[in-house]
Amino acid sequence: MNHNLYLAFYPHFERNPDKVLMDTLDGKRYRYADVLATSRRLASVLLELGVSPGDRVAVQVDKSPEIVMLYLACLQVGAVYLPLNTAYTDSEIAYFLEDAEPHLYVCRPDVLEDAKARASASNVAHVESLGTKADGSLMEKAATARETESVCDVGADDLAAILYTSGTTGRSKGAMLSHTNLASNSQALTEAWQYSDQDHLIHALPIFHTHGLFVACNVTLINGASMTFLPKLDVDELLDLMPHSTVLMGVPTFYTRLLASPRLDRDVVANMRLFISGSAPLLAETHEAFEARTGHAILERYGMTETNMNTSNPYVGKRRPGTVGMPLPGVELRIADRETGKALPQGETGMVELRGPNVFKGYWRMPEKTKAEFRDDGFFITGDLGLVDEHGYLNIVGRDKDLVISGGYNVYPKEVEQLIDDMPGVVESAVIGVKHTDLGEGVVAVVVPEASASLDEAQILAALKGELARYKQPKRVFFADSLPRNVMGKVQKNQLRSTYADTFT
Ligand code: ATP
Ligand code: MG
Repeated sequence: MNHNLYLAFYPHFERNPDKVLMDTLDGKRYRYADVLATSRRLASVLLELGVSPGDRVAVQVDKSPEIVMLYLACLQVGAVYLPLNTAYTDSEIAYFLEDAEPHLYVCRPDVLEDAKARASASNVAHVESLGTKADGSLMEKAATARETESVCDVGADDLAAILYTSGTTGRSKGAMLSHTNLASNSQALTEAWQYSDQDHLIHALPIFHTHGLFVACNVTLINGASMTFLPKLDVDELLDLMPHSTVLMGVPTFYTRLLASPRLDRDVVANMRLFISGSAPLLAETHEAFEARTGHAILERYGMTETNMNTSNPYVGKRRPGTVGMPLPGVELRIADRETGKALPQGETGMVELRGPNVFKGYWRMPEKTKAEFRDDGFFITGDLGLVDEHGYLNIVGRDKDLVISGGYNVYPKEVEQLIDDMPGVVESAVIGVKHTDLGEGVVAVVVPEASASLDEAQILAALKGELARYKQPKRVFFADSLPRNVMGKVQKNQLRSTYADTFT
């Protein structure tokens, strides 16, 4: 049997050639037939360049519909698609190219010459370019290429993609994802979210990350659905599209920004059936405010590069603010003791561990690291801490690496952050541990106040006194205009830890 993910998408191309799969704000429309023809031409280009099954194709280009066609072409010929964050600098790219050793590197047209020079220093055989206007050397080659129809025969465990993690807790690692990993997850999400060919998605996420690439595009493709591609988040554009769309997938920032627009109301969302949030924790407050304004309960789900999506709040049933819901079909979840890996009783906080067809094949060229992140019985140690509440919903309380150990006691940042966030005049907060001579780590809170608020350190400390055990109380509170975030809305606690590193020394 051929396990190629491409075959899970293909029937829709045959069935609905005239249906528009993707459109853009500048009025371009790509029918299923157009996407099929271009991706088949790109498949020929890849073959002509000598891309063989298992070869990596690294891609660092600005978002465009053509990327989806290149991704399809890679699947078709059995290549391993390897997208790279568009924010990576030259030296970071050099690291990734050396690590991944792609046969082909696709870059932006304006850096083609530099990229070629750099590639000759590493083991990259070919460099081509792809622009946002269907331009670049790759599309030029595709224009005259014939359409390849054959689909590479791949096994269930063969790699479809390598995706680098976001690098929130350290250097990014390449997660090896098989065709089955991706196909099974798209199927599970389809079931969980009642996705169908009637859906039209607003796609404003970056496309180098699991959220925008695999959740958004794979679920669209496997259902024969459609999507509008936006280069980036623009609140007015989202609102303009809502009357003609059914689903929005966003990171929490999408929702806080939408709430800041007076245009967001029940009328504008009347045609929408589902608002999804993930990649970073959604504040319960945001969930509640969005529901009050629109009548829609945002559906929060939890996933990661290594596993695609793991849990989701229910489509039918209560979506509980501040939780990430229940395991998706086929996904096993347990909360285990951080050290021993022994399952903990319901309600206790520990390591979130996962097993299922969605769990990746390991970190690229890091066998030791891979071994260390799996238990003997095959469960993947996610590095996230959480608990399953009395309703069976998973609550993420933070990352293991963000756990503060002060005087030998565990302090879960989220518990402290939630109390601070609930104080009047506070927008949000981040709690971190930094080096402390007596305690090992001392708790520090970084607080973003509302513009009009006059908050001071003593006030916040006093308010926490009656609420938290002494060891959990911050030793210092600092104020900031905003928290450092990456494009996926993830708070960069590493950055905060280095900013406040000398607080107690
Ligand atoms: P690195 O592994 O390189 O440190 P990263 O973990 O941020 O980076 P990703 O794979 O992009 O890289 O992100 C996955 C992480 O994002 C999860 O492990 C979890 O910590 C967080 N996350 C995703 N969705 C949610 C959510 N709904 N609520 C809370 N955290 C979430
Ligand atoms: Mg991670």
